[in-house]
Amino acid sequence: MTAAGPGRVYDALVVGVGTAGLVTALRLAKQGADVLVTAKGVGATHLTSGTVDVLGYTPERVVNPAAALPDFVRDHPEHPYARAGLQAVGDALDWIKLQLPDGALVGSLEANFLLPTAVGVPKPSALAPETMAPGDLRNGGRFTIVGLAGLKDFYPAYLADNLSRARLGQEDNGRVEARAVTISPPTGGVADVTPMGWARRFEDTEFRKTVIAELEPSLDGGAVGFPAVLGLDSARTVWQELNDALGVPVFEIPTLPPSVPGNRMARALRAALTRAGGRVVMGGRVIGVRGAGERLEEVVVDAAARPKTYRARDYVLATGGFASRGLEMDSYGMVREAAFDLPVTGMPPNAEARWADEYLAAHPAARVGIGVDDELRPLDSGHGVVYENVRVAGAALAGAEPWREKSGEGISLATGLRAAELILERRGG
Ligand SMILES: Cc1cc2nc3c(=O)[nH]c(=O)nc-3n(C[C@H](O)[C@H](O)[C@H](O)COP(=O)(O)OP(=O)(O)OC[C@H]3O[C@@H](n4cnc5c(N)ncnc54)[C@H](O)[C@@H]3O)c2cc1C
Repeated sequence: MTAAGPGRVYDALVVGVGTAGLVTALRLAKQGADVLVTAKGVGATHLTSGTVDVLGYTPERVVNPAAALPDFVRDHPEHPYARAGLQAVGDALDWIKLQLPDGALVGSLEANFLLPTAVGVPKPSALAPETMAPGDLRNGGRFTIVGLAGLKDFYPAYLADNLSRARLGQEDNGRVEARAVTISPPTGGVADVTPMGWARRFEDTEFRKTVIAELEPSLDGGAVGFPAVLGLDSARTVWQELNDALGVPVFEIPTLPPSVPGNRMARALRAALTRAGGRVVMGGRVIGVRGAGERLEEVVVDAAARPKTYRARDYVLATGGFASRGLEMDSYGMVREAAFDLPVTGMPPNAEARWADEYLAAHPAARVGIGVDDELRPLDSGHGVVYENVRVAGAALAGAEPWREKSGEGISLATGLRAAELILERRGG
């Protein structure tokens, strides 16, 4: 493999532009580090609902993640939260709120919201955009779910029906009564408007006036849930105007992917990173590395014209799990880490023991990923550190079941920030 020769040596090279990679890079850049991020494509940010789930189930529903985490970590010593340390979880939540525009994320580690998913299932999340928070179901209430004619994959009647049947816990008050209303605001003759297309329309004042006029007569005083398409760059303005004009609490409900709130968060983090002096190279898939002893020396990226070599003092692998193909599984059930070819742990040796029969059951193979030490450095099968200047963050890590635990973004935030802190500590910064 020939690659353009190395010149500049970065302080840190981060691979992956999902939540974990963006958080690591932003933290480092804000401390003055010379940071390059390379990624073959966008992260799960563009699919995720926009909430930050830290710990939703253990498997019982978690009401207060801060109270539940110590026992959870004790029972799961290989979990990324155990590797990063509990302090990192709280720190990450406080830190991310400060990096994003006001209201982009609200809530705390002390109480999970209970917010409707795209199909009307109540889901516990520690942080959520302020535009979603009034949809909190913990106190029950009356809700009108608004459908937009022509918005695919959002089914207000189904959603309202599921919400009305939602079984809230003993710790919740009251019950949910939900009903659906569908409106047909103008789409400019376009039959198939995407969530991003709707979000841009909602940024237009005249468009909003038509929405308000059509919706007002059908309201009954309950809170109003819209699909999460209330603007892209000015969601706060759009949401506040709808609140004021309709005179009832308005909230967003995540759509199926692609996700407008996820896009908002990724855009805000990318913008903050650029302001802090970090650089992002998109389309840069890692195709090889060269190590020397315990150190990773360089990374080869499949750039547009020819392979390009990057060198850095520290590296952070934030390439995600199976969803982003940071981890890949072949037809024999063998899992490999796709960028640095790091050892993978957690795959049961016996093929029959890997998967449970039920789709949402605890699958023994679900915790597969890269095993790390307490400094988030990758380990080999003998628990030796593979590269002392590589750290791993996010969904690539072994030991978690984010789908069942509801911990996806929490893990990426906590380990992403922790990876940056460890690099800074080592540099004495
Ligand atoms: C559909 C969906 C819905 C979700 N909903 C929620 C939710 O509601 N709440 C929640 O908390 N979590 C949710 N999650 C989980 C959460 O989004 C992820 O766990 C988390 O964002 C993973 O972040 P990450 O940065 O580790 O990886 P990712 O976001 O997956 O990013 C990986 C990055 O690495 C890049 N990459 C991969 N391989 C290479 C390579 N070889 N070379 C270069 N770059 C590479 C990718 O292009 C990408 O940029 C959801 C996930 C999905 C898929």
